[in-house]
Amino acid sequence: MAFDVGSMDEIHEICKIMYSDFANGFKFCPKCSSITFHTEDNGRSLRCEECHFNYFINNSAAVACLITNNLGELLLTRRAFMPNQGMLDLPGGFVEPLESAEMAAVREIREELNLNIVKLKYLISYPNLYHYSGINIPTVDLAFVCEVESLECLKPDDDVASVEFVDPEKIDFKALCAVSMEKIIRFYLNWSKL
Ligand SMILES: [Zn+2]
Repeated sequence: MAFDVGSMDEIHEICKIMYSDFANGFKFCPKCSSITFHTEDNGRSLRCEECHFNYFINNSAAVACLITNNLGELLLTRRAFMPNQGMLDLPGGFVEPLESAEMAAVREIREELNLNIVKLKYLISYPNLYHYSGINIPTVDLAFVCEVESLECLKPDDDVASVEFVDPEKIDFKALCAVSMEKIIRFYLNWSKL
């Protein structure tokens, strides 16, 4: 199946903007506080002239969970907070330090929905830029198809305002908070028909 993330030219342009965000936002070396903290490698990293600390701009890992009810409708969440407050999202979140992506999926679904994942299968990943605190944070969003113990105890919490089950064929993709979520759902729709 095609993996469409845009042309190399588009990716290059977006990366240039993101790298300049970091260069403008990170003025001081986080290790020694020197102001001699400059970009290197076409913006891909920042290096301190004083202590030689080198900071590489890498993706943060995040998980997105695909959960359906017995009608085959997909569980979508409404975001409670900024960024993208009120927009539709897949449940999930950032992978915490020393956590596997699977552990993050189980934890996030328990925190956000009070549900217990009993089975999960990795599907696909897509990159995204998550605008937070004035910086575009590059993420790689890892999608899992999840089976939960029961939907009876479903209770939105944490950064989820509410939950809705939507026929995947009728999803309003413009109401989704991120391009990566749209791509994950579109990929899932094709995959589930195989
Ligand atoms: Zn330094």
